[in-house]
Amino acid sequence: STTLELESVSHSYGNRVALDNVSIKLRPGQFNALLGPNGAGKSTLFALLTRLYRLQQGEILFDGASINRQPRQFLSRMGVVFQQSTLDLDLTVLQNLEYHGALHGLSGRAIRARAAQELEWLGLADRLGDKVRSLNGGHRRRVEIARALLHQPSILLLDEASAGLDVASRQAINRAVRDLCRQRGLTVLWATHLLEEVKPEDPVIILHKGRVLADGQGQALCTDT
Ligand code: ADP
Ligand code: ADP
Repeated sequence: STTLELESVSHSYGNRVALDNVSIKLRPGQFNALLGPNGAGKSTLFALLTRLYRLQQGEILFDGASINRQPRQFLSRMGVVFQQSTLDLDLTVLQNLEYHGALHGLSGRAIRARAAQELEWLGLADRLGDKVRSLNGGHRRRVEIARALLHQPSILLLDEASAGLDVASRQAINRAVRDLCRQRGLTVLWATHLLEEVKPEDPVIILHKGRVLADGQGQALCTDT
């Protein structure tokens, strides 16, 4: 499984420090929870991991090597679900996936095969030709997960993937992503501000005001389980 590590990463917006000397290491092949209230720095961390932002300070290591050394290889092995949906509502599910697949150099045939595969286990096999606009919020999230998996990454990053969904859909998405870890050995980073999405056995990193408050097992947080 794939390892991902941040070493003394700091990030500022002008004078505002969003990440302050953050060092974390994801447990390979596991569902790693990144827990923190709004403003903790989760989105900034995602922007650095996805290379939307340039690293100001520190190092990000992917399987032991700096992501700046081989950025394309790194991006090709990473799947991302951003907090804000980036699906085109007026395109069909398949068309949304086709665009992403093409960016990753997959042939049309490979894209259709992979899309059918991923949508099958996500329960959306029959929606391939439907416009995304006709799908409910939970199903749109599933499409984003399918898209993030299309190029078969070894690590999956999700920023508030269950935001704005009802409880049942939230739990369903959370369960689906946990299945990915179990069945494929995928390394997952699940960022959330909701404690209820963390299980006692999860490795969990708590971020607060840009600092790592705790880095350990969910056990210590879950008093009611
Ligand atoms: P979230 O907390 O849900 O990640 P925010 O509401 O903090 O999102 O931020 C929404 C958008 O505004 C993001 O693109 C973020 O980078 C930007 N943003 C957040 N805080 C500030 C700020 N103080 N000044 C300028 N832009 C900001
Ligand atoms: P989270 O995703 O955990 O809500 P963010 O990474 O969005 O946290 O924000 C961390 C801190 O950085 C917050 O204080 C936020 O207001 C600030 N911030 C985020 N984006 C920007 C931005 N583009 N410009 C200025 N400040 C920002």
